[in-house]
Amino acid sequence: MSAYRIAANRTRTTQILSMKNQSPTVKTFTIKDKTCARAKPGQFLMLWIPRADEIPLSVLNTEENGTVSVLVKKVGEATEALHNKKIGEIIGVRGPFGNSFTPETGRILMVSGGTGLAPILFLAKKLTAKAERLVFVVGAKTRDELLLMDELEKICGRGKGRVIAATEDGSYGVKGLVATPLESLLAKEKFDMIYTCGPEQMMRKVFGLAEKYGIALEVSLERLMRCAIGLCGSCVIGRYRICRDGPVFTAEQLKEVEEEFGVSKRDFDGRKIPLE
Ligand SMILES: Cc1cc2nc3c(=O)[nH]c(=O)nc-3n(C[C@H](O)[C@H](O)[C@H](O)COP(=O)(O)OP(=O)(O)OC[C@H]3O[C@@H](n4cnc5c(N)ncnc54)[C@H](O)[C@@H]3O)c2cc1C
Repeated sequence: MSAYRIAANRTRTTQILSMKNQSPTVKTFTIKDKTCARAKPGQFLMLWIPRADEIPLSVLNTEENGTVSVLVKKVGEATEALHNKKIGEIIGVRGPFGNSFTPETGRILMVSGGTGLAPILFLAKKLTAKAERLVFVVGAKTRDELLLMDELEKICGRGKGRVIAATEDGSYGVKGLVATPLESLLAKEKFDMIYTCGPEQMMRKVFGLAEKYGIALEVSLERLMRCAIGLCGSCVIGRYRICRDGPVFTAEQLKEVEEEFGVSKRDFDGRKIPLE
């Protein structure tokens, strides 16, 4: 293991510098950690919440001053404990881990759902200046659950870019799942690259559309993760360990694990269970 990887895997303690509500169940947290501030879009960190758990989170943003932000949805014990913390409280961090998206400069389509926005928005910030075109399709159940729309519009909604939102209840943008605007968009516009992160069934749909239209694709996958360095096997999909070989996978790699992608995952005991 390289010296950089050993250093990245050491837990550092740090303080919560700021936190902000982004929806009724999602908050952004900013911490200072110069090692994670070197993260590339797609990489994740392990956040240790004392007396709760250590959880994987995609990096949402980094700044040259060493600050790092994450976008966290309250879903269970650890994320609830984190949501209840206050500015100045101590947490731990390891990382960054995993691979990152391959930056492209042509006609780019980004698709995200829920907190899957985090790694894709981070990537959008890096690519927007050089991309020939950047269209961002974002989905949520309701208007309240659409995250960071102002920032998204600022980054992608100018000049050669635009944002298309879809809500399941029709309270904002197109009514329906992300696939609804996506299908009509792909039928009339050409793209060179699709990047996606979000609910796995959504990504499976995007995978099918990318194949249909012959567009290169990169997908960021999530699974239960414990060690984050490829040892424990919690995040295995086919022959891949998501923490070490991913979390970003190409369409070719996903084809190899087609019987698991969008279908099943491992539970805490390592058993294969259906994806909700
Ligand atoms: C690479 C990666 C990046 C992620 N990025 C983000 C992010 O940017 N923002 C965000 O809000 N969430 C992200 N997650 C998911 C996040 O890690 C889980 O929501 C969190 O671990 C849940 O912990 P909990 O104790 O609150 O919930 P639990 O009580 O443990 O479980 C609640 C639900 O979350 C699922 N879950 C639990 N642990 C994990 C885990 N380690 N990985 C995936 N799912 C899990 C369970 O299956 C269950 O459905 C990411 C996961 C991975 C693997």
